This record gives sequence, C-alpha cells and structure tokens, in this order.
Amino acid sequence: MKMSNENLLKDHLIFDAHCDTANALLDRSFDFIKGKQVHVDRDKIRKGGLNAQIFALYVNPAYGPYRSIKKALLLYHAMENKVFFPGYGLKVTSSIEMDSALRKDRLACWLSLEGGHIIENSIEILEFFYSLGIRCMTLTHMKNTDWADSSGDSPRWDGLNALGKKIVTRMEEIHMVIDVSHASDKTVEDVLEVTSAPLMASHSNARALCDIPRNLPDDFIQEIAKRNGYIGVNFFPVFLKKSIFDQVYKNVEKYEPEHQQILQGKEDSPDFVNKAESKLFQKYVKGSDSVDINAVIDHIVHIAEVGGIDCVGLGSDFDGMSSTPTDLTDVSCYPVLIEGLSVRGFKTKEIRKIMGLNLYQFLKQFDH
Ligand SMILES: [Zn+2]
Repeated sequence: MKMSNENLLKDHLIFDAHCDTANALLDRSFDFIKGKQVHVDRDKIRKGGLNAQIFALYVNPAYGPYRSIKKALLLYHAMENKVFFPGYGLKVTSSIEMDSALRKDRLACWLSLEGGHIIENSIEILEFFYSLGIRCMTLTHMKNTDWADSSGDSPRWDGLNALGKKIVTRMEEIHMVIDVSHASDKTVEDVLEVTSAPLMASHSNARALCDIPRNLPDDFIQEIAKRNGYIGVNFFPVFLKKSIFDQVYKNVEKYEPEHQQILQGKEDSPDFVNKAESKLFQKYVKGSDSVDINAVIDHIVHIAEVGGIDCVGLGSDFDGMSSTPTDLTDVSCYPVLIEGLSVRGFKTKEIRKIMGLNLYQFLKQFDH
C-alpha cells in the first residue's frame, strides 16, 4: 500500500548536511519564498518535509586573500535577512537549539563555511566564525588553500602543511566540525593522523561506484565510520556516475579556451569570476546523461555496507549543482527518496537514520 506523503513525513526527521542556498540568496537575489530556479525555498521545504539543514556559506576561491571574509559575511547577512529575520528558519548552533526549533515546528538552520581559504590563514578568524555560530568548515573547495590540498587541484603541500595541522587541531579543540569533502586523499590522511575528532564528509560519494578523486575510497569510509563520523551522499549526477563525469569533463576541456578568454584579466574581479563560473558549469553539464533516484540509493547502500548504517545520510548539494537526478529535482522530492529506500529493502528504522537521525546524532557529539 502506498502511504501518503504526510504519513511518510510524520515519521521522519529530514536533515541534510549541505546546500548552497545562501549563495542563491545572495548571488541570484532570490528571496526564499518561492524560487522557480532554486532547489530549496519555503514552499518546497514544506512539501518535502525538510526539518533541518546545514546551509553552507560558499566562497569561490577567486575571492582569495583579503576578500573572502567579506563574501562570507555577506552570505551570512543574506541568511539573516532573508531566512532568520522573516522567521522562515531559526539559526541553531547545538542539538539543544535544534530540538527547540523542531518543537516550535521551525526549520533548524545550521551554518557551515565551504572553503578553508575563507579564514584567510588566521586561527583567530576561525574562532570568530565559530563565535558567530558557524559549526563546520570544509578544509578546501576545488582549489588548494595556503595550508591544505584539494582533490580538485595538483598537490602543493602533500596534504596539510604545518599551518594546516594547527588549524585542524584548533578546530577539534573548539568543537568546529572538520569537513573533509573536497579535500585530497593525502589531506584526509593527515587529518586522520592529527586529530581523533569524529569527521564529516558533508557531501561526498563512494569512489568504488564512481571512481573520481572527489569521492571517498572505502578505507576512508571505514575510518570515518569507526570514529562516529558522518558521510552525506551528494545528489549531483556527475559525482554519482563515472560515465557522466567523463562526459562533463570532455565539455570542460572543450570549453577551456573560451573559459580562459572569459576569465582573462579578471583576477581582480572575483564577483565577475564567481558569476561567470556558475554560468560555465551550466554549460558543462548540458547534454550529459541523467540518472534517477536509484543512483543516489546505490551510493547510500554501498556506504552503509562498508561503514555501517549509522554513518550515512544526506548531503544533497541542492542549489550548488548544475543538474539533478530526474526524480530528485529539489527539496520537495524527499518523500520519493523515502519510498525508494523502502523499495530497496531498508527497514523503517534504517530509513529514519539515513534521512536525518544519523546527522543529528553526529552533531550532538559537538555540543558543549
Ligand atoms: Zn561543495
């Protein structure tokens, strides 16, 4: 018997570890009430039953030193102005605050930094962002920082350099979640060596199913799971299936000269680079194959098999990906995912863990 969406949702805490909606609010001047071209807005959240979300403040590495902090603060301001102030969601910084938001039937909004370059090589700035209520940080985005190598770049430091090790150690001390999505393998190895903190890969998939550096090999999945960590499965088709990654990569190469031409001489205009790059990403995915929800579930199944059912959950990347699975097009589609997991043989208790409880339990470890 098919359950109605309301019945499906009643039972589930739906909590996702990564979206780029703050950037849609700021860069695309979207107002959060109803956005045609966005994945996360008030109406879609209601329909999909989303209860809690980690909102990333993503700063394009083009902002580099001396401009990244301003961009991150503008993203923070967009969240304040367009989500918290009008009352569409409550900013939360602990599981206790999240419980209270949920009791009031409000969207619980956590904040994270996407890209270690945002702290501009300063431990004090890291601490300042923590004091603003930001609770997670990815060490890199697609480019190396001055202290950590990215999976999207050629090695510069062979993982973390001395400053990187200091920053990661300080993150552990202040209870800032260390997010290894986007980091290079060697960076992850170094993180595992210098800390014993539970780690998060907020939006990463399994390399065994899609063999690209951006995804996690099985030994990292096991190691993250062993430390009570969390892995959020990313819905971007390019990270789900290698054949799609290859198609898109071909386009990246094809458009490279055009890309260079557009960006030439614009090193001093990060706003321009940021906008141009998001347009180019739309072009790269054009004409590539699509997948359905089963490709997402395949990664969930694999990570649960390798790391156990307690380490896996959602890391959608909504509003940060230039294409989506055909039946998981925005946040309103979560009931389809719940059904899909049940069809694939997950028990209700397991589905509840995947849809949100695992992420909740993970973050609870950082309360203090
Ligand atoms: Zn990302």
